[in-house]
Amino acid sequence: MNRILVALDVDSQAKALALADTLRGSVAGYKIGKQLFTAEGPAIVRALTERGDRVFLDLKFHDIPNTVAGAVTSAIGTGAWMVNVHASGGSAMMQAAAKAATETAGRLDVPRPLVIGVTVLTSMDEAALAEVGTTRTVLEQVVHLARLAQKAGLDGVVASPLEIAAIREACGRDFVIVTPGIRPAAQQGTDDQARTLTPAQAVTAGATYLVVGRPITGAADPRAAAEAMARETGA
Ligand code: C5P
Repeated sequence: MNRILVALDVDSQAKALALADTLRGSVAGYKIGKQLFTAEGPAIVRALTERGDRVFLDLKFHDIPNTVAGAVTSAIGTGAWMVNVHASGGSAMMQAAAKAATETAGRLDVPRPLVIGVTVLTSMDEAALAEVGTTRTVLEQVVHLARLAQKAGLDGVVASPLEIAAIREACGRDFVIVTPGIRPAAQQGTDDQARTLTPAQAVTAGATYLVVGRPITGAADPRAAAEAMARETGA
């Protein structure tokens, strides 16, 4: 299967649609994050889902359970295929997100979106975790939150390349693992992503979906770059 989700980290609907039009059919879907969503709102999500695209709406909800449930319900209205919440919001919040996804999708008679947890932001190291009161190592906290997310009914987590194997081991075969920090072999160590894996390495480690931005969006021929990366994963 094609596992590549392209991060549409651009500032306008026109640029996002142009990229999506170029890549349609060569990737599994698109990730819309806070930059594009804040600029263009739900219309950009709908514009893609109405074209049949899968959209991972990466807004990392983190609020009281009732508010997160409402946000997930609104996300389903855009046709999003995958949404995410911060696992550190706790079990009650994650359960509310999962329940809202199931109930709203049922009520609207649409497919239930995947609800994914964010464990520890990769910008945080042990010192940053200690500052906010966590004494575990980063990897321990990641696995702890992944298990908590699974118990609360989430479908999977976002994980850095270094965390994939431990989460796969802890949470089993069917848990969805979405991994950014992917670079083709020829581009390893060439930019700001400190810890990267190639597409093939990430899949071997147990990733379900790979979030890829600049290696595709910044390529001279984005479609050829996407096809080459998909081939590297065996798709
Ligand atoms: O361009 P690049 O391939 O680095 O894009 C990766 C995408 O994944 C960006 O949208 C980035 O914000 C996101 N991401 C990440 N690392 C994380 C979580 C999300 O790079 N830990």
